[in-house]
Amino acid sequence: MRQSLFAVLCLLATWGTGHPATAQTTAVDSRPGGNVIYVTWDGFRWQEFFGGAQEPYLAKDAGVADVEALRTRFWREELAERRTALLPFVWNVIAREGQIFGDPERNAPARTANRLKFSYPGYNEMFTGFADDERITSNDKTPNPNVTVLEFLNRRPGFEGRVAAIATWDVFPAIINRERSGVYVHAGITPIPGDDLTPGEQLLNQLIADTVVLWPGNQIDSLTMQTALEYLQRKRPRVLFIGMGETDEWGHARRYDRYLHAAHRCDEFLRRLWTLLQSLPEYRDNTTLVIGPDHGRGGTIRDWTDHNAKVEGAEFVWSAVLGPRTPPLGVRAEVETTLSQIASTLAAAVGEDFPAASPKSAPALPGAIVTGTPTVPKPGDPK
Ligand SMILES: [Zn+2]
Repeated sequence: MRQSLFAVLCLLATWGTGHPATAQTTAVDSRPGGNVIYVTWDGFRWQEFFGGAQEPYLAKDAGVADVEALRTRFWREELAERRTALLPFVWNVIAREGQIFGDPERNAPARTANRLKFSYPGYNEMFTGFADDERITSNDKTPNPNVTVLEFLNRRPGFEGRVAAIATWDVFPAIINRERSGVYVHAGITPIPGDDLTPGEQLLNQLIADTVVLWPGNQIDSLTMQTALEYLQRKRPRVLFIGMGETDEWGHARRYDRYLHAAHRCDEFLRRLWTLLQSLPEYRDNTTLVIGPDHGRGGTIRDWTDHNAKVEGAEFVWSAVLGPRTPPLGVRAEVETTLSQIASTLAAAVGEDFPAASPKSAPALPGAIVTGTPTVPKPGDPK
């Protein structure tokens, strides 16, 4: 019922906006629940996400090589201008057309439910819907005993073999339990597998082989970004996770300039990704984009580089949602959330009920996904 209603609404919207009705209708009919893409920025703080460049950190002490150049690039007196200079897609597009969670200034803090405040516990939490501080206690490549929402979806009708993860960090095959889940996972510094690679993927494999290794377990973001875009076009997955890692690496390295540039490029990647999605019939007006980090970092000039159970404030995170089922409520106020609510949000975005299958999982972010009555473009809406 829901699906047929959605198809009718889309058909109406299609007529209203004058898009070719046949192509659009066919695409929607073939993917009644839509698609979801989740992009993480490892360890990117809420302070910069909501506040842009932080002035005390625009200094040699924070590892900035050229303070004046960084100020020119990202410092603005006005908050709105400052955060838009750093993250233009987030603040020009998602904040207007989607929803953003985690702003402490609006009494809307977002926290990790896990108390460890580092990556595997964070990714476990966001993908399984609950913290597991008993069993997930290190970043070791131990196959996850818990079932992620990616594994759940990969077994649902219409999603089999159409769930994928492409990430910089080489622990994801364990976090997603690639062997058991059957989810396609390409992670770390490894060639793109397969004998049907596009010319772009063949070039990427050469670049992967030729690029100096900065971190043995973590690919640089640019190669993973492009790998994800190529995979998206070749395989057309319905559920795609894309994990970025440089924000965390440059934070640990105490390089605030590169930390900011990494985030800025992650934002630009979202813009390219979103533009690509709206150009492909399977995805256009039928895809939800979710973004967020896996943990925060310390809140002082001394400990902003770090995050673990002992670092105060590293439990604070944020998230953002954009798509046809997300009412444009902008920056949400008066709502406390946790990282564990991501899993159910991803499932809800494609019309699936993860807590029904995994009762320990937290509910979806409140109001982020409207099921049953998707928000379709109104006639005359700008594209
Ligand atoms: Zn880290």
